[in-house]
Amino acid sequence: MTAALDINVTKAEQSKLSNLNLENLPFGKFFTDHMLEADYEDGEWKSIEIKPYQPLLLDPSLSALHYGQSIFEGIKAYKDENGNPFIFRPYDNFKRFNTSAARMNMPEVPEEIFMEGMRKLIALDSKWIPAIKDHSLYIRPFMFATDPMLGVKPSGTYKFLIILSPSGPYYATPMKIAVEETYTRAAPGGVGFSKNAGNYGGSMLAATVAKEHGYDQVLWTDAFEHKWLQEVGMMNVFFKIDDIIITPSLEEGTILAGVTRSSAITGLEEMGFKVEERKISIDELVEAHKAGKLQEVFGTGTAATIAYIKELKYKDYIMEFDIAALKTATAIKNWLAAIREGKTADKYGWIYKI
Ligand SMILES: *Cc1c(COP(=O)(O)O)cnc(C)c1O
Repeated sequence: MTAALDINVTKAEQSKLSNLNLENLPFGKFFTDHMLEADYEDGEWKSIEIKPYQPLLLDPSLSALHYGQSIFEGIKAYKDENGNPFIFRPYDNFKRFNTSAARMNMPEVPEEIFMEGMRKLIALDSKWIPAIKDHSLYIRPFMFATDPMLGVKPSGTYKFLIILSPSGPYYATPMKIAVEETYTRAAPGGVGFSKNAGNYGGSMLAATVAKEHGYDQVLWTDAFEHKWLQEVGMMNVFFKIDDIIITPSLEEGTILAGVTRSSAITGLEEMGFKVEERKISIDELVEAHKAGKLQEVFGTGTAATIAYIKELKYKDYIMEFDIAALKTATAIKNWLAAIREGKTADKYGWIYKI
């Protein structure tokens, strides 16, 4: 697209906001007054609109529902202490969205639709951003295949949308995690590095089984040996062993390259920690625990930011962590919060002002 972006805006007649208390809302259940919608057809994006939040009318043969070309992103907007809205590192999500699109054989969304569309939408619904600690406006861009056709082939038409959900804290309580040994989330050559809908559909049974045993989520392991650690639910995972921080490396394409993971690595290194991105096995973890050297385990992701892990289970072996002693997890959580809250300088350019 070379022409300037033309977004047609239709405003809602009445805001739903007056009926809602923004404090302690559940994650992803309430939506703002407007959404962005764009359609891809004949090789180009057309009819880019911001309009009142509303249901979609879809053909039952819709390609995405049958064959799963469907991708998404998760980003957060906040208000600074003067009440000015900003988004945290959205450009990284934009780039990852198009990485997911390429893997799923879908068209890319141009920067001006994704970024400028998001900016305009949030500007319009900015009063929905909660100005409360640990609260935010969750931004959900997504795209799916819309050909009304049952033939198995890449769709020729797609829909891109952005919806916004004011949300309270997510995973607020420390988690119990079970190391997964039966099911697999991702294998080399697969789609694990993309944020495509099927990855989550495929993970739910393992999480349900874990819940039946009293665990909140699973820690995924590799497809061949169920030994090499990958990530947890919708979070990347970090271990602190003998004062060194270790997080599984991305090169096999089986792990989602989290933006929070990247922010955490930057922050931990700035704090003076040695951070290793490498393969790490459950055996190494258990050995470190037995030797008293496994100090912390925590998760990183946009929804939770930093999630404390208080228990990790592998077969019958239970590793427990004293939450009060999770010093590094707390330090990186505070480091990130200080940048978001404007208490420390945004020297990496992560704050995107609306
Ligand atoms: C989204 C997601 C993450 C976290 O990524 P962020 O960019 O930090 O939100 C980690 N793992 C999976 C599987 C995810 O879908």
